[in-house]
Amino acid sequence: MDVKAPLGTEDILPEQAVLWQKVEATARGLFARYGYGEIRTPIFESTRLFVRSIGETTDIVEKEMYTFGSGDESFTLRPEATAPVVRAYLEHNLHKTKSFQKLYYIGPMFRHERPQAGRKRQFHQIGVEAIGASDPLLDAEVIALACHLFDDLGISGYRARLNAIGTPASRGGYRDLIKAELSAQQDKLCPDCRRRLDRNVFRVLDCKNEGCIAITRKLPRILDHLPEAERVHFARLAKALRSAHVPFEEDAFLVRGFDYYTGVVFEITHGALGAQDALCGGGRYDNLIADLGGPSLGAVGWALGIERLLMALQAGGPAAEAAPLDLYIVTMGGPARVAAVEYLSKLRRAGLAADTDYEGRSLKAQMRTADKLRARFVTVLGDNELASGSLRLKHMATGAETEVSGVEGILHTIREHSGQGAGGVELNP
Ligand code: AMP
Repeated sequence: MDVKAPLGTEDILPEQAVLWQKVEATARGLFARYGYGEIRTPIFESTRLFVRSIGETTDIVEKEMYTFGSGDESFTLRPEATAPVVRAYLEHNLHKTKSFQKLYYIGPMFRHERPQAGRKRQFHQIGVEAIGASDPLLDAEVIALACHLFDDLGISGYRARLNAIGTPASRGGYRDLIKAELSAQQDKLCPDCRRRLDRNVFRVLDCKNEGCIAITRKLPRILDHLPEAERVHFARLAKALRSAHVPFEEDAFLVRGFDYYTGVVFEITHGALGAQDALCGGGRYDNLIADLGGPSLGAVGWALGIERLLMALQAGGPAAEAAPLDLYIVTMGGPARVAAVEYLSKLRRAGLAADTDYEGRSLKAQMRTADKLRARFVTVLGDNELASGSLRLKHMATGAETEVSGVEGILHTIREHSGQGAGGVELNP
């Protein structure tokens, strides 16, 4: 067939899905411990939601959204989930029942970007949003949570960088200052940044062009030009992170590609990711809830890319393989195959991971499959076993064989070997 998956999208095959499941399960476990509840929002939303929240002059809204019409309405495949989560928070009046909510999501996002390593058109994010509080201790919690997730997954070598970018009102003075300095040197800026000077001067700070970096790194620090309260907030966050032993560094030129961010912003990068080295990004968005028609409430969150997380995970060596099988039933002859299916139905209902051959293959080939599936026990079922009603279970690690009879006998022996007794405990973790 000459039809392929669209450019910038990926199929996740069973072997890789094991890793995805490990990442998602680890994240869900941590979110439960930190008190974050799951929220699932639609894959598409009204286009207006993203234009109003992310901002009209951002790369995402200007050129990366998948937008389609339906009747008079314009919809967009979600390029990110903070705005949808805030929309849902307000639509369901969560602020009236319990204004402080800690939420998380896991799912696909869509951006029409130029695909390259670590940059997809459909990618997946895990994200958290803590809505309803402005305390810098909450900023510290969400950052610590991201680092905790990386640690639990065995990812080392990540770097957290922090900055504060103020609000549209409080950064006005700094904006004018850098605009004047950059305008004076605009012939040395890249064409994109010359355009950004008028439209969104802060995006110049984010430019990866070496000529632009050389100029921006000599600009004054934004933090020194923010009001006292915002500097105190940043200092309290830094102190909380130090006391939680979360390693980080200040990066006076870190900005993010969304207009809704106010105050603290952060990014966590990893050396194994190449040019697209951002693993996780987030920050405060204290104006977004009010901008979308709700009350004035503080909020902070982050999102990480699962594809990039897996790249970082695999850089540290093999990360996960499918759980082994408890029992493989090798069959010899038609009646044995029928009996095997009956055994399997009972054993699986009792909690065992068990399988057999459906391809009518030779005994040797079936043994090879059992080996590949890393079966802990193997039994051969033929006419003799059917006549006697007893089976020989071979424990593959030791070669020891045990004669058992019926489903109960199989369960008893396998459970004993799992060190869990015959207590009906889930065997295949
Ligand atoms: P953002 O929503 O742009 O702050 O991105 C948060 C995280 O999502 C990034 O740090 C990446 O890990 C991931 N990410 C963003 N865009 C893409 C993309 N096009 N392809 C793969 N991952 C992405």
